[in-house]
Amino acid sequence: MFKKIISYFKKKRNHQKRAAKFTELINILKGTDPEKDNLKEFYKTSILQKNKENIPKFSAIHFSERIILLPQCLRNIDQCKAKEIGILYECQHCGACKIDWIIQKAKNLGYKGIYLLKGGSVISKIIEEVHPKALIGVACFYEGLIGITECEKHGIIVQFVPLTKDGCVNTDLNLDVLKNSMNLIK
Ligand code: SF4
Repeated sequence: MFKKIISYFKKKRNHQKRAAKFTELINILKGTDPEKDNLKEFYKTSILQKNKENIPKFSAIHFSERIILLPQCLRNIDQCKAKEIGILYECQHCGACKIDWIIQKAKNLGYKGIYLLKGGSVISKIIEEVHPKALIGVACFYEGLIGITECEKHGIIVQFVPLTKDGCVNTDLNLDVLKNSMNLIK
């Protein structure tokens, strides 16, 4: 399996072929147990490599063509006042979690949109509605890998920011890492 992974990152293909290959890898991984098979390190290495590879193209895309996808688990679940609107939550800026700051920063930079997702399965729907050229995704490494696959299918350039504390609720991220990705520009 690891030979396939290395080969994926070495070969230069158009994005549809790369996406197909990446999907193949995901399907292999879906049948595995991350803990048992010690795959967490693999997710991490793969994604960080992907981030590095995407930096030049990502930096060349203007803020107004980029969106940010945030997981709902970043909310402060005990204090959150966010409204549920379809497939999204709409932050009410109570300031009890980092989402408030992230939205403000993204708006100041001129980002096309910031979406607080109810689940990773809605990524395709948002992409099809908003048509971004680039995207910053915040998630755990496993969800990140799946999200990158979806984006590659659509030819979207991704920067991934990992959660520093994952789980289903009250997760966390390093704001400096996110800021670095948000500020990338040629
Ligand atoms: S800042 Fe927004 S997302 Fe965070 S807890 Fe408050 S309302 Fe919820």
